[in-house]
Amino acid sequence: MTAAVEMPRVEECVVAACSYNDTGDCHAFAITIGSPDHAHCHTFVEMPAIRGGVDGMTAQVGACQRADCRHNEQLECHAPGIRVGPDNDMADCMTYDER
Ligand code: SF4
Repeated sequence: MTAAVEMPRVEECVVAACSYNDTGDCHAFAITIGSPDHAHCHTFVEMPAIRGGVDGMTAQVGACQRADCRHNEQLECHAPGIRVGPDNDMADCMTYDER
């Protein structure tokens, strides 16, 4: 049996255009971060007619492909929490910290 591991929370996301965003909070169940060249949020989606996610839920980081981030171990994030906002792209992990 494997022990349950708590995933890092998305403490803040300022990308208001995303369908999962409601007043600075991400309501997706879990998000995926990472692209070959930057810490992009792959869960970001702009669908103005659809409100995504679960009310009352705060998103967690389900997976992260940025192996070069000091918070990353085996493609999982171990930061206490992350913030998402515009950086290289419209929605990136702002907590990314190159080793
Ligand atoms: S803090 Fe680092 S490991 Fe965690 S989601 Fe952001 S880029 Fe990935």
